[in-house]
Amino acid sequence: MLLGVIADDMTGATDVALMLNRAGMRTVQLIGVPQPGAAMPAADAVVVALKSRTTPVAEALADSLTACDALLAAGARQILFKYCSTFDSTPAGNIGPVADALMERLGTDFAIVCPAFPANGRSIYQGYLFVGAVPLHESSMKDHPLTPMRDSSLVRLMGAQAKGEVGLVDYATVLAGSEAVRARFAALRGQGARYAVTDALTNDDLMTLGRAVADHKLLTGGSGIAMGLPQNFRQAGLLPEREAPARLAAPAGRAGILSGSCSAATRGQIRAALETGYPALKIDPLALAEGRQTAAALADWALSQPADGPFLLYSSDDPAEVAAVQDRLGRERAGSLVEEAFAEIARRLVQGGVTRLLVAGGETSGAVALGLGLRSLEIGPEIDPGVPWTRVAAGPDMVVALKSGNFGAPDFFVKAWGLLS
Ligand code: ADP
Repeated sequence: MLLGVIADDMTGATDVALMLNRAGMRTVQLIGVPQPGAAMPAADAVVVALKSRTTPVAEALADSLTACDALLAAGARQILFKYCSTFDSTPAGNIGPVADALMERLGTDFAIVCPAFPANGRSIYQGYLFVGAVPLHESSMKDHPLTPMRDSSLVRLMGAQAKGEVGLVDYATVLAGSEAVRARFAALRGQGARYAVTDALTNDDLMTLGRAVADHKLLTGGSGIAMGLPQNFRQAGLLPEREAPARLAAPAGRAGILSGSCSAATRGQIRAALETGYPALKIDPLALAEGRQTAAALADWALSQPADGPFLLYSSDDPAEVAAVQDRLGRERAGSLVEEAFAEIARRLVQGGVTRLLVAGGETSGAVALGLGLRSLEIGPEIDPGVPWTRVAAGPDMVVALKSGNFGAPDFFVKAWGLLS
C-alpha cells in the first residue's frame, strides 16, 4: 500500500476512494474501524470509512488512531485525514484533535489543511473557505443541525480546534509553483507553525500542492487534495500507469435493486425503473409493523421473478406518505422497521443467488452493508458522480453499488448494469 486514508464519514470515504481510483490507484474502502491484526487488502490506496465526524472526541481519536496503526502496519507511506470540503466540525472538533493525534502518532510536526474541492465549488482564498460564490459562513452550512459553520477563516477555525499555530500559504505562492510552496512551508515551520492552510481555486492548484507535499507524512483535507497525490507515487516509480476501470467483472448470478431512500432523485430513478418494466414490489412500513409483509416473503417474491433481469424492492415514498407513516409509527420506528427489513431481505437474496445489488439510501446502505457483513469494497467504475460499482473484497462474493439518496441521474437504476461484465 502507498497511501492510507482515514475518512470521517462513509460517503466522504467513497468520494476520496473514487478520486484516487480515477487517478489510477487501485483503491479499497474498508467500512468501520479495522480489527487489530486483521489482514489489509492488497491495493495502492486503502480508505478507512469511520463515523468520527460528530462522535465524542475521545471515540473519534481512538478510532482514528486504530485506523492509522492498521494502515501503517500495512505499509502506508503517507496518511491523508479526509474530512468534509465544508470543514464540518464544532469548536471542540473533531478535525483539530484528530489531526493533532495523528501528527503525534506519525512523529511529524507539520501538516496542511486543505478542504478545497473546486469541482464542487469549494475554494480557498487568503485562507477563507468559499462554497460557490459565498463564504462558508453565508452558505447553508451556517444552519447545519450538527455542525453549524459560523466562520469562514480556516486559519481561525483550525486554530481554535488544534494545538499550535496555524499559518497560511497564500494564492500568489501557490501560483508560483510547488518549489515556492515548499519554501513557504519551511518558513512557516521556522516560525513555529504546526499547520498550514493552503489556498486553492482550481484543480491545477491541487496538483501543485500535491507535488509540494510529496514528502509529508500527514495531510489533512477534502477529497480534492487526493487528486495531486498519485503523481508523486508514479514519479517515484512506485505506481504503474493505470487507467481507471471502465467495467467491473461481476460473479455470475442474479441482479436486484433495494431502495429505502425517499429522496427526490431516488423517486425519479424508481419511476424510470418502473417505466422500463422491471418487476417491482413496494414495501409498506405499516404492513411490516402489522406482519402483513415480512422480509422472508418479500425476498421470496424477488427470487421468484425472471432471473434474466433485475427486480426492484422499494419502500421509497413521497414526503406526504412518509409523514403519514411516521405519524402512525413514529419516525424512528418507521425508519428502523424498514432498515431491518432491508438488511434481512439482502441476506436472503444473497443466499438465494443474488450477486449484483444496487442499494439506494445512505442509512439503507449502512443497514444492508451491516446485514451482509460487507467490510471491504474494491472501488470499480463510476456509475454517476460519487457512486461507483464496488466488488466486495471481504464478505460475500458479489458486487454492490451503495448510492446516497440524492445522487445519480434519473436512469441510474437502468444504466448501472451496463458497466458490469
Ligand atoms: P437518503 O440517502 O435518501 O436520505 P436513507 O436510507 O439515508 O435515504 O434514509 C431514508 C430513511 O427513511 C431510512 O431510515 C428508511 O428506513 C426510512 N424510510 C424508507 N421508506 C420509508 C417510508 N415509506 N416511510 C417512512 N420511512 C421510510
